[in-house]
Amino acid sequence: MTWLLPRLLAGFVAMLAGGFVGYLLGNPVHAPVVSVLIGGGLAVGVLAVFDTLRGVRLMTWLRGSQDDDAPRDAGFWGELGYRMERSLRAREHQAVQQQARLERFLEAIEASPNGVLMLDDKGQIDWCNSVAATHFGLDPQRDRLQRITNLVRAPAFVAYLQGNDYAQPVQFPDPRGLGLLSVLVRDYGEGMKLVLSQDITERERADAMRRDFVANVSHEIRTPLTVLAGFIETMAALQLTEVERKRVLLLMNQQTTRMQTLVSDLLTLANLEGSPRPAADRWVPAAKLLRQVEADARMLSAGRHVLAIVSDGDVQIAGAETELLSAMGNLVGNAVRYTPDGGRIDIGWRLLNGGAGEFSVRDTGPGIEREHLPRLTERFYRVDGSRSRETGGTGLGLSIVKHVVQRHGGELDIQSEPGKGSTFRLVLPAARMRPDPAAAPAGTQREGSGAEVRSSITSSTAPTSSSAAPLANQKAAGPERAEGQPLGLS
Ligand code: ADP
Repeated sequence: MTWLLPRLLAGFVAMLAGGFVGYLLGNPVHAPVVSVLIGGGLAVGVLAVFDTLRGVRLMTWLRGSQDDDAPRDAGFWGELGYRMERSLRAREHQAVQQQARLERFLEAIEASPNGVLMLDDKGQIDWCNSVAATHFGLDPQRDRLQRITNLVRAPAFVAYLQGNDYAQPVQFPDPRGLGLLSVLVRDYGEGMKLVLSQDITERERADAMRRDFVANVSHEIRTPLTVLAGFIETMAALQLTEVERKRVLLLMNQQTTRMQTLVSDLLTLANLEGSPRPAADRWVPAAKLLRQVEADARMLSAGRHVLAIVSDGDVQIAGAETELLSAMGNLVGNAVRYTPDGGRIDIGWRLLNGGAGEFSVRDTGPGIEREHLPRLTERFYRVDGSRSRETGGTGLGLSIVKHVVQRHGGELDIQSEPGKGSTFRLVLPAARMRPDPAAAPAGTQREGSGAEVRSSITSSTAPTSSSAAPLANQKAAGPERAEGQPLGLS
């Protein structure tokens, strides 16, 4: 009520002043009472008009955008304007803060790797982050307030949304046809729904790969195990002659070797996947690798093929020696195993123009149909399953090669044509090459042979009586063998 007294007082004072002026003016014309009343009334009226004008000024400010300050009048209207403006500014400040909080909140949801979509009580899109927009193929602006089921028509999703049982997520192919989505719905507010989506394509692929892998390993192990069990039964049930016993033991040995090779290759792969990349400061002379590969090739071929080894480039390679040997050995081993007796195998090492190192194995074997080439490095992928198994193959060799090459930053290139043979090239980056200080000065070795040093050429067509067994045995003697056997080819 503090505002009322000054206003009454002002009215009273104005009335008195007006009455006094009226009296002064009305007295000479002998109408003092009327003049006092008119003067007092006029004064109060003028005061009321001024007061109303100040109220109108405040009203005009309130009707406007209120960006400028409220009218700074004294008294009642001034205080009213000041208090209104203060409360308005406080609310504006609060609204700005809330807006900023909302934006931060939306930014956080936007940053989520999962899709978040809000539906109103009519099932219309209220808001969605860009991940959800990508998952469902939506446009966050254009599709606002559209019914989600009109835009996402995957039957599993529509049934799930309408089923009102959201205990478990639903999975369905994403509308773009690129992968698989997992979607979970949660109710909130009054009839509103939060739709959470996740791209599970990779997870499903990894799961499928793991399932396939376990199935493949089981399949690979089951056959030798069955054969072994059969032999054990035979030995237990029958009286065998010494010759028969030796034969059975030999066959049993082949089967255990096959399983050992498989386990060894699996361990090699697991090691390659689980260990850090090979250090770039461990240097292996290429010549040393080539010597080892050559020795292995001769032992495996046992004179059944024409072997040509050409080495050009006295360098050292930065990497893991056992891994590089394993990769090179696998390629050479494959060439020996798949090339028929009397065929030719060229093993080469050279430096390419950019300084990268290339290890190549060319054979005159059966070659490989074009459609198989992209899949050769998949685990357990075989073009000729029986030939692979007969010769002690596990189907993991090229997979190991690919891993090794990738870990060294290189590439595996396969060129092959049925009937014409195959060329496998392993290219290691220039950054992993450096001159070999121990190499003989240029000119000594290269004399008379151009850029190439033909380190050795052996040819033989002498047939071996049993090729499968020695090859299988060699397969078992891989570089990462748990038993610590010397390098072999897997
Ligand atoms: P495997 O142990 O069966 O040899 P790899 O991963 O080393 O497994 O090779 C995959 C498949 O690629 C082999 O099963 C074989 O069919 C084919 N292959 C590999 N190298 C050669 C080659 N030099 N000539 C013909 N086929 C080959």
